[in-house]
Amino acid sequence: MKYKIVKFQTRKNSPKATILLIYTGGTIGMLYDDSGSLVPFNFGHIMDRISYLRGFDINITVISFPEPIDSSSIQLEHWNDLAYIIFENYDSYDGFVVLHGTDTMAYSASALSFMLEGLNKPVIFTGAQLPIGAARSDARENLITALDIASSKDGEKPVVSEVCIYFSYLLLRGNRSKKVESSHFNAFESENYPSLAEAGVDIEYDYSALGAYRKDARLSYKKILDTNVAILKVFPGMTPGVVENILSIRGLKGVVLETYGSGTVTADPWFADYLKNAIKNNIIMFNVSQCTGGRVMQGRYQTSKMLADIGVVSGSDITTEAAITKMMYLLSNEDSIKKVKERLKIPLCGEMS
Ligand code: ASP
Repeated sequence: MKYKIVKFQTRKNSPKATILLIYTGGTIGMLYDDSGSLVPFNFGHIMDRISYLRGFDINITVISFPEPIDSSSIQLEHWNDLAYIIFENYDSYDGFVVLHGTDTMAYSASALSFMLEGLNKPVIFTGAQLPIGAARSDARENLITALDIASSKDGEKPVVSEVCIYFSYLLLRGNRSKKVESSHFNAFESENYPSLAEAGVDIEYDYSALGAYRKDARLSYKKILDTNVAILKVFPGMTPGVVENILSIRGLKGVVLETYGSGTVTADPWFADYLKNAIKNNIIMFNVSQCTGGRVMQGRYQTSKMLADIGVVSGSDITTEAAITKMMYLLSNEDSIKKVKERLKIPLCGEMS
């Protein structure tokens, strides 16, 4: 990708931190078109609204996607570009802030958490529910606090050394987050993992929840290239035709099975037969609950024991967003199905308990 570098230097000669701000698009930078729909706009007009940042004690360099996008159009190329930009610039900055649409922010933050192996610096995703130019926009607070978090240090070490989402006063682990609101400002939640920080008058970090800083970690980045995956969400009344169609997709390698409650599915034998057949054909099945809180426990009920018996991998308390990106990441980077299954089961970077 040919990205644009927009220099935005603050006045300070010895800033407390240097931050790379990456603008991908999203509501934060949108304007209304003639028909009244919000469309992504270039970074220039965001600059007009954030000129007050020039007084900050942080040096900020901005990189903008050449075509800012509504995050509903995000694709693997964008993730690979984002990971590459961070990898390439890693040693030159103390932290990274990614401006991103909220619709797929949890997917992108999850994907980046897997792709940036050995990360030891903050990568903070943020955005807004209203464009930065709107009078009541939440953009200003989200952006300023995200920058503050990305530049926070504890002596020489960064306070945060993982991929996070900062939104509406909460700092959440990226691969534990979910967009849960499209109208209110508090758009994200992390039901199964505590908030990493809460911003009020001060930013109060929960040090017991933050990922550990690993002194000797070296950053490497892995691409995500394999999209031979599907999400199969079970529902009462689902017909064999639906299951058959999904499981017979040519080239399919992995399925996130969105089950009820603690991981249950219908006891109808036809359903088990389709899954057994898929597993026999080397399709990996990963069991994730439709509930946002709690966890999959295959075997707690008879209607989930069958899944364990036939070789469905339990996703414990992982989100669907983290599950599907983890599956794509592992399929892209592991050379055997056995290895993919082994690594799906275990937490790679705090995405599951
Ligand atoms: N549709 C927008 C996007 O995800 C929504 C937002 O940014 O809040 O890009």
